[in-house]
Amino acid sequence: MNLLDGKKVRDEVLEDLKQKIAENNLAIKLAIILVGNNEASKIYIRNKEKACKNVGIEVEKHLLDEKTREEDLIDLINKLNEDASVTGIILQSPVPTHIDFDKCSGLIKASKDVDGFTEENIYNLYLGNDTIMPCTVKGIIRLLEYYDIPLEGANVVIVGRGNIVGHPLSLALINKNATVTVAHSKTKDLSNVTKNADILISATGVAHLITLDMVKPGAVVVDVGVSRIDGHIVGDVDFDNVKDVASWITPNPGGVGPMTVAMIIDNLFMMKWRDKNG
Ligand code: NAP
Repeated sequence: MNLLDGKKVRDEVLEDLKQKIAENNLAIKLAIILVGNNEASKIYIRNKEKACKNVGIEVEKHLLDEKTREEDLIDLINKLNEDASVTGIILQSPVPTHIDFDKCSGLIKASKDVDGFTEENIYNLYLGNDTIMPCTVKGIIRLLEYYDIPLEGANVVIVGRGNIVGHPLSLALINKNATVTVAHSKTKDLSNVTKNADILISATGVAHLITLDMVKPGAVVVDVGVSRIDGHIVGDVDFDNVKDVASWITPNPGGVGPMTVAMIIDNLFMMKWRDKNG
């Protein structure tokens, strides 16, 4: 078993970006909007802020009251869209229930859409065009490529078809010439499907869904899921047992999570580079 070490790759990616940002004297600014007091969101924002500051990216936080009206949030997004000093914008999910997250995040200008979820960016992913990719999807692919895991022709099984990970990941991997199967909660005989995978990627949030008997010996296993048991973060994969048959496996935490943060920085760099050089 070999580890797909997300922290190591994140550190290398960020060091490289830090140098490029300094060498090219790039003034990059990320605007993060949080509506309300979700504790997990505050931790995610702190991690993003820390990564940005470490590579020389400015962060402008907009912490809005729980009761903020949707139209006021939209005004702020429009203002940030027009502000030439702002490189990218993140609307942190979740938002309070009186606000339509998809509608509001969809108003972020595609060229400032760090998370890669606006219609234009997702449509470009669908078409196989060069685009701003959702950060977790990009992070998984970058991690596999770093360790020279061949994607072309590989049988990839993705468990989970969510809009944040599973669904866009299936498009990205088809673009890489993988043969992609997407399983979900209605899939019959899940283990029969997962056992065909050369690369098995689980993104469900169901703790320890993927057990030893569901993995082909020698498979590459990527665990995206995040759930909590007794306050501890656990993934979708029963790591302690699956590691004995996998050729490569992500730790969780320490695999996909750090790569997601690194790709936020990578997307911001790419946006600024395009803005400057066309
Ligand atoms: P989501 O939208 O809730 O999707 C979950 C998917 O899992 C759905 O497609 C669902 O099937 C499927 N599923 C649920 N139970 C299942 C079962 N027993 N067997 C097979 N499939 C099952 O979630 P998401 O936003 O895509 O995120 C997925 C996970 O990744 C979450 O745990 C999230 O916290 C984590 N995540 C991690 C990172 C990171 O950086 N590490 C980033 C983003 C997300 P149906 O469609 O049939 O309901």
